[in-house]
Amino acid sequence: MLFSQILGQQRAKRFLKQAMSREKIPHAYLFTGISGVGKTSTAMALATALNCQEPVDYEGCGQCLPCRQMVSGNFPDFLIIKPEGQNIRIHQIRDLNRSFSFAPALGRYRVCIIYQAETMTMEAANSFLKALEEPPPGNILILNATEPLDLLPTIVSRCQKVPFQPLMLQDMTDWLVKSRGLDQETAMALASISGGSLGLALKMCDGDFLDKRQEWLLRLMKLVGFSKEKALDVAFECAREDRKKALGIPESGEPGLRDMLSVWESWYRDLLVLKVGGPEELVINQDFSHKLKKTTESFKIDNLIDSLLAIEQSQQDLRRMRNTQLVMEHMVMSLNSLGRSG
Ligand SMILES: [Zn+2]
Repeated sequence: MLFSQILGQQRAKRFLKQAMSREKIPHAYLFTGISGVGKTSTAMALATALNCQEPVDYEGCGQCLPCRQMVSGNFPDFLIIKPEGQNIRIHQIRDLNRSFSFAPALGRYRVCIIYQAETMTMEAANSFLKALEEPPPGNILILNATEPLDLLPTIVSRCQKVPFQPLMLQDMTDWLVKSRGLDQETAMALASISGGSLGLALKMCDGDFLDKRQEWLLRLMKLVGFSKEKALDVAFECAREDRKKALGIPESGEPGLRDMLSVWESWYRDLLVLKVGGPEELVINQDFSHKLKKTTESFKIDNLIDSLLAIEQSQQDLRRMRNTQLVMEHMVMSLNSLGRSG
């Protein structure tokens, strides 16, 4: 993976190349941003550039042994730590600290990337702080997180922060047309539904996401008209599906609760756009525009805003590993009562 192959993120790339040009390269970075915008790819590009035998303008050559090993996933000095189940655990950090006591096996730099760093348990985070304070030379740590506020401030303050932005709609559309052979319209719809996350857009074109999305939107439309009791059933149903999914293969990329919430969020955004008379091109769920126009008539602006806030709150709560059932109950009841009061 090379910097030039990563879509968008010019600022992040420029920042990292500048950091490489300094005599002393910072040893810890915190990449923040929603998932699917290139954080992992950028970490790989950085590892490649740092270890390339003939880098050109702080970019891997793509030809030498370390570059080829990075491409094939066999580079020995590239480590990945990701949550085991819900959390990154202390034994994983201990293993990391142990590997730091050896020099990099082959490359000049050992690069370790920590996915979803916000899921470290308190013990893991404390043990990690030691690694962050003074890693032996030649070790670079890259933490990936959606939201820096979810991390210990002492961890955040020891890292170079590199924010990643959601990708531009047009850039994503062009990319999907060119690299995936999608037609312009589908590419545009996927790019907008995914909210600037290429990872999510790809997941959507590969899996049964588009069918799922249909199902979720119908569920939401029904939910708003339900009685309180029936609305509560919807919360149970969502939490149960999520548990079932968690029992399966966690990294299967199957559409899940968080995807459902993004879709619901897009729905209320669309309603709001139409309510305030915004341009119709801004509507994400273009294929539902007729239904959206009808629905928006029965809502007050304030209720649409409160519904959006309720969804955003629940997204945040789920990221912080709050109880799924309770989070869903709370959100579903809010949406239901905001919907019924119009
Ligand atoms: Zn190279």
